[in-house]
Amino acid sequence: MSPELVDVLDRLANVVLGTASFLIATLIAIATFRRATRTFAPLGVVFLVVFVAIGVRALTRVLALEPGAGGQPFGGLLVAVEWLQAAAAVAFLSLHRRYGVFIESAAMVSEYETEYAAKEREAQALVQVNEELRRLDELKSEFLAMVSHELRTPLTAIVGYSRLLMRQVHGSLTAKQLEQQEAILRSAQRLTDLINDLLDVSRLEAGRVELQPRPTSLRQIADQVIAVVSAAAHGKQIRVQNDVPADLPHLNADPTRLQQILVNLVGNAVKFTPSGGLVRIAAGTTGEQAWVAVEDTGVGIPGDELARIWDPFYQVESPLRRRHGGSGLGLTIVRRLVELHGGVVRAESQGANKGSRFTFTLPVARDAGTEVPEQPVAARIERVLAGRNVLIVEDEPDNQALMRSVIEDILGGKATVCEDGERAIHEALEQPPAIVLLDLMLPRVSGWEVARRLRQSPRTREVPIVAVSALARAQEREAAVHAGCDAYIAKPFTPEDMARVISGALGRQGAAA
Ligand code: ADP
Repeated sequence: MSPELVDVLDRLANVVLGTASFLIATLIAIATFRRATRTFAPLGVVFLVVFVAIGVRALTRVLALEPGAGGQPFGGLLVAVEWLQAAAAVAFLSLHRRYGVFIESAAMVSEYETEYAAKEREAQALVQVNEELRRLDELKSEFLAMVSHELRTPLTAIVGYSRLLMRQVHGSLTAKQLEQQEAILRSAQRLTDLINDLLDVSRLEAGRVELQPRPTSLRQIADQVIAVVSAAAHGKQIRVQNDVPADLPHLNADPTRLQQILVNLVGNAVKFTPSGGLVRIAAGTTGEQAWVAVEDTGVGIPGDELARIWDPFYQVESPLRRRHGGSGLGLTIVRRLVELHGGVVRAESQGANKGSRFTFTLPVARDAGTEVPEQPVAARIERVLAGRNVLIVEDEPDNQALMRSVIEDILGGKATVCEDGERAIHEALEQPPAIVLLDLMLPRVSGWEVARRLRQSPRTREVPIVAVSALARAQEREAAVHAGCDAYIAKPFTPEDMARVISGALGRQGAAA
C-alpha cells in the first residue's frame, strides 16, 4: 500500500472516530444533565471527558497537525487499529439509548454505597449508645442497691430495738412510752416500705422481676391482706369486707406478688376513705379469667385523673390526700405486677366523694389441686436456743448489740460476736457454734467467703449458717445460698423474723440428723 493511500485511510478512520466520539460525548452530556434525580453523576462526567479527548485527538489527525501513518513503519497496521477504534466508537454510538440507564444505575449504586456507609456509621453509633445505656442501667441498679443497703442498715437497729422495747424484754414501759415506741416502729416501717417500693419499681421497669405462679386461693390471700391493714382500718373505724366467693377457683398467680397487689389497693382504699366507711374485696370469673375488685366509699378520683394515677410518683393533689403519706409508687407497682401475670387493671370512680373501684384480671389456674399451703406464722417466740452458742458475724456495733439481745434475751442462746470475716472463720473452727448469723458485707473477708470456708472444713460443714443482710436483690440471696448459707434474713428484721428463721434452720438440721 502506498504511503498516500495509508494517509487517506488514516484520516478517514479519524473522521469516523472523531465524529462518533463528539456525538457520544454530546449524548452522554444530555443523559447526564437531564437525569430525573438531578444528582451529580461522576461516571457520566468521566465518560464525557474521555470521549471529548478521543474526539480532539482524532481531529488533530484529520487536520494533519501531527504526522500521518503513511510515513511510519507498519503504517498499514496503525491504520487497521484506527479503523478498529472507529468501528468500536460507532458500535458504542449505536447503544445511545442505554446511556441514561447506565449512568442512572451507576449513580444509584454510588448513592446506595454512600447511604449504606452512613447507615453503617449510624448502626455503629447506636451500638455504642446501647452499650452506654446498658452501663448506665447497671450503674443505676448498683447505685439503688447501695443506697438501699445503706438505708436498711440503720433501719435494722431502729426496727429491731423498737420491737424489743415493745416486747418489754428489759422492763415494762408506760402506756405513753409504748404508744411513742409504736409510732417509731410505724415510721421505720414506712421507710422500709418506701425503699422496697423504689427497688421494686426499678426491678419491674428493668424486667428483672420473675414470677413464681402457682394455684393460689384468692380468698385466703384477701384474709391475710385484711389482717395487714387491720390496724389502720380499725383506727378509722373502716370495715374491710372479704366478699370473695368461697367457691372461686384458684388463680394462677405468684402468691407473694398477689398479696403485694392487694395490700397496695386495699391500703389505698383505707387511706382514702374517711372514718366509718366501707372497703370490699370482691371477685368472680369470666371464662378462663377471674376479676378481682377493691371498692371503697372514700374520696373518689376525678375523671381526668384516672389515667394519670398509674404514673410513678403521681398523686392526686387535694388537701385531704396530702395529709396521707405515700410515695406515689403503689399503683405503678400494681399495674406492672398485674401485667406481668398477663392481666389488665383499671380504675373507676363516679367522682369526688363517690368512692373508687379498682379492678384487675388474673388467669384461673387449670390444675387447682396442687396449692402449696402457706407456712403457719408462729405467734409466740420460744427460747429455741436453750443455752446454745450462736456466732454473730456483724460489723455494725448497733446491730451487733441488737442481735445479741435477740439471741440471749429472747431466744435463750449465748452469743459470741465477731466483727470481721477472718476472725469469724477462726472462731467458728476453734469452737463450732450451734448456728452462725452472718452479715454479707464485711470488711476484708466477705460473708460469702466466710460461708464457703466454713463449708469446706469438716468441723463446721454441718453448722447452719443464716445470712443476715441489707442486700435485698435476688442475685445476692442466690449467691449466699450458693456459697453455703441455709437461710436468709433481710435487714431490717424483727425479733419475730429472726426467731422464725433460726427455728427453721435448727429444725431442718435436726430433721437431717
Ligand atoms: P400513694 O398511695 O403512695 O400516694 P399510689 O400510686 O398508690 O401512691 O396512688 C397514686 C394516687 O392515686 C394516690 O396518691 C391517690 O391520689 C390516688 N388513689 C389511689 N387509690 C385511691 C383510692 N382508693 N381512692 C382515692 N384515690 C386513690
